[in-house]
Amino acid sequence: MIGTRTETDRRRVRLPSSTGNGTDAVDAIDVLVPEAETPAASCPYCERPFRTAQLCALHVGERHLGACTDAERETYEDAYDTESDALFIFQLKSVAALVALSLLFTYTYAIVWT
Ligand SMILES: [Zn+2]
Repeated sequence: MIGTRTETDRRRVRLPSSTGNGTDAVDAIDVLVPEAETPAASCPYCERPFRTAQLCALHVGERHLGACTDAERETYEDAYDTESDALFIFQLKSVAALVALSLLFTYTYAIVWT
């Protein structure tokens, strides 16, 4: 079948338990990596695969902050700043779209009503 994947064509990576900081339920999930894909990076502490190195750096900084090196912490801070900037731009675009949509409805209502 096209577009469906079965359990047999994926590699299963079981993540070990977390450090006990309340994130065990999140970290105890199975991560399925399709056979056709190769993770761009893997966590050096729990071997969780990631599509990009930036996502891996964010994971290391969020989940293993106490154990990571200074270089990993600096990479995490850079990735965090990049992610924050991208989120801010997304929020600006969302507000602009909402304002434009409300003006469109207002003018449409005014034109149709009069
Ligand atoms: Zn990890």
